[in-house]
Amino acid sequence: MAKQLILDLKPEELAQKLQDMGQPKFRSVQLLDGLYKHHYDSFDRFPTLPKTLITQLESEFVLNPLELVSKLQSRDKKTEKFLFSLQDRKQIETVLMRYADRDTVCISSQVGCPLGCVFCATGQMGFTRNLSVGEILGQVLHCMRQLESEGKNLTNIVFMGMGEPFLNYSNVMEAIDRLIHPESMNFGARRITISTVGLTPKLKEFTQLDSQVNLAISLHAPTDELRSQLVPNNRLHPLKPLLAACREYVNKTKRRLSFEYALIEGVNDTDQHARQLISQIRGMLCHVNLIALNPSKNYPFPGSSSQRVQAFLAVLQEAGIPSSIRSRKGIEINAGCGQLAQAQESE
Ligand code: SAH
Ligand code: SF4
Repeated sequence: MAKQLILDLKPEELAQKLQDMGQPKFRSVQLLDGLYKHHYDSFDRFPTLPKTLITQLESEFVLNPLELVSKLQSRDKKTEKFLFSLQDRKQIETVLMRYADRDTVCISSQVGCPLGCVFCATGQMGFTRNLSVGEILGQVLHCMRQLESEGKNLTNIVFMGMGEPFLNYSNVMEAIDRLIHPESMNFGARRITISTVGLTPKLKEFTQLDSQVNLAISLHAPTDELRSQLVPNNRLHPLKPLLAACREYVNKTKRRLSFEYALIEGVNDTDQHARQLISQIRGMLCHVNLIALNPSKNYPFPGSSSQRVQAFLAVLQEAGIPSSIRSRKGIEINAGCGQLAQAQESE
């Protein structure tokens, strides 16, 4: 029988497990601290656990759910992309981005994605399965260890890797609980961002949580006609109810949300599109992130030129819409937004 991922167990389940093994209560604190505060990557690194317990844990559990298959570094060495193999040999990618003022990990929530946005490499590969809580946390822990070896700490986490986080809602939310709980990883909720294509019912559910986690909605088009061509999920969850749910989110949480908009030459990047976008979101507490579309194998249209991106930005800003241009990172190693796919598929 395959061993269980220890990171998949809730802290209370792990405490119960240790109790069943006849261990005193304080052992679970030692074990949880080792996993979530010290980020140990193997059981034999836990200095306070007795040898017999270590052997027992090793025989029942896997500590690190991810096997590093390869890593690629951008020319400026700031962006690193990790390809991991999971227990069932499926593969995912995780990206670590070093900025002047922060270090951000971009994590995956699914192997592939079923939503098929036409410009997204992950969407183009189709869907395999959801990631478990441990597989989500394992990506963060890997990058924390990497940064700690450089004398740094992780500052931000974004769910912008492979997959749609709201289609793996319960595991994503449980992973976030583990990340932010003071007795667990104690990571600031405000430094975590969930990016979603906008599954309206899930967005409503998320609003009810009144969470401090940031929310980004991948919009990419200002009309249903165009958005449905680019983001097929729009046919199921069109703009009107989606944007109404966004306004509801802002009203309830008083938090600013972000709209992601990838500019595609001649497709969604004219001044007219910018004006249509303004009329859709005017008055909402929001920020628009513009990015020139990154290339992916099966989508022929190029990203907009930097002049066009600037011009689009100018139209938004003249109308008083808070907006900025997101810098592209790691494009030459296919580590940019929407470029993640299993290695076999992208070669
Ligand atoms: N499924 C979620 C999160 C993963 S995708 C979502 O769609 O929001 C992360 C971001 O990359 C999204 O904003 C997505 O629209 C964007 N993206 C996908 N393909 C892209 C591409 N080729 N160029 C730029 N951004 C892209
Ligand atoms: Fe899935 Fe997001 Fe890619 Fe769309 S952009 S296919 S929702 S990962």
